[in-house]
Amino acid sequence: MTAEPTGPGPRVAVVGAGLAGSLLAILLGRRGLAVTVYERRPDPRATGAERGRSINLALSARGLAALDAVGLRELALEQALPMRGRMVHPAGGGHNFQPYSAGGERAIHSISRAGLNAALLDTAEATPGVTLRFGARVTGVDTGDDGTGAGRLLLEGGATELAGVVLACDGAYSAMRRALRPDGGFEAGQDFLEHGYKELTIPPRDGDFALDPGALHIWPRGTAMMIALPNVDRSFTCTLFWPKEEFEALDAPARVRGHFRAAYPDAAALIPDLAEDFARNPVGSLVTVRSRPWVREGDGAVVALLGDAAHAIVPFFGQGANCAFEDCLEIDRCLTETGGDWSRALPMYQERRTANTDAIAEMALDNFVEMRDRVASPVYRARTAAQHA
Ligand code: FAD
Repeated sequence: MTAEPTGPGPRVAVVGAGLAGSLLAILLGRRGLAVTVYERRPDPRATGAERGRSINLALSARGLAALDAVGLRELALEQALPMRGRMVHPAGGGHNFQPYSAGGERAIHSISRAGLNAALLDTAEATPGVTLRFGARVTGVDTGDDGTGAGRLLLEGGATELAGVVLACDGAYSAMRRALRPDGGFEAGQDFLEHGYKELTIPPRDGDFALDPGALHIWPRGTAMMIALPNVDRSFTCTLFWPKEEFEALDAPARVRGHFRAAYPDAAALIPDLAEDFARNPVGSLVTVRSRPWVREGDGAVVALLGDAAHAIVPFFGQGANCAFEDCLEIDRCLTETGGDWSRALPMYQERRTANTDAIAEMALDNFVEMRDRVASPVYRARTAAQHA
């Protein structure tokens, strides 16, 4: 199946205009394809960031390489703050810096999710052939195996639209993944951690950063931890990764303040609205998604999962979005290598990406133990210092 640049109806449908969907639309538009992106939300550039999503995220070399491919690397770096190591805040007080590389030249970059998504959407919108449709929730796909040979996307409200290629970038709780599962041969599992996450804000202090903005801050506390990433407005976004019952136990402002004074005293002093922030912000879930296969071809449409829809991972390695971007690049590469033949390119993409994404899912789970526990141990600190000496 070779997608044509023009033709009746949207030949290539991208489901979800998050980080993966918007980058993928740019890459495909640049190939001269007609691409329609269906996003269930209103345009986030008009409505602001969605509650319950991480406010900022760490971009690594993988993500930057993908952004470079669409000319957005420099813009992203201008909006980001480099973090050259971890600043560990042990339970006993004080802090110690653990650089990511000996000379401090290697960094990961803290960037606003909403700002990055907006930059990708602006670029997608300006790319010939790309159409963005907001407020369009996709409920399923008909791969045209009923003799019609016409693939269709099913939209909320009952409308259907022609689509020969459907690329599902609709996130960890993907409706597309669920739609494909009963259809023979699809397997998908979701492993939820017993920990949830909640975000808090450390505002600027006297107009400046209240902590060192050149580091990713970690408060390791054994079974729980807090991290903080800097924002360009000089605030920090803290994320608590706690067992869910620990959140539930703090059911009154005095309990919240008391717990933070005991467990995170330096941070507690920097969050004036601590109890209000804690009560207002939701607790999110942390899930690992394992699904196979990612690609299904019917008589009228080929469907592929990518990004979190295919392989959501827990955030402790800061690689979910970076991996989703790599999926997009790999699809683009496979299309080049197969002369635009989707039927060969998508299985090739799956073949090349699954070992990587399986490995990173395990590393992300392992890194939770490292971040919340091991980084605080003197042995670990001595070893890290020796490695960078
Ligand atoms: P999403 O960003 O979830 O986008 C999915 C899109 O699809 C959304 O816009 C959604 O509205 C839309 N959609 C959903 N269903 C439908 C439907 N039925 N029809 C139409 N549209 C639909 N990653 C990193 O690389 N670095 C980090 O530091 C990092 N930190 C994180 C911190 C936390 C607390 C969490 C939870 C995640 C973090 N991640 C991080 C992971 C990262 O957020 C995800 O991997 C990334 O957002 C995946 O992108 P995506 O486009 O696949 O999915």
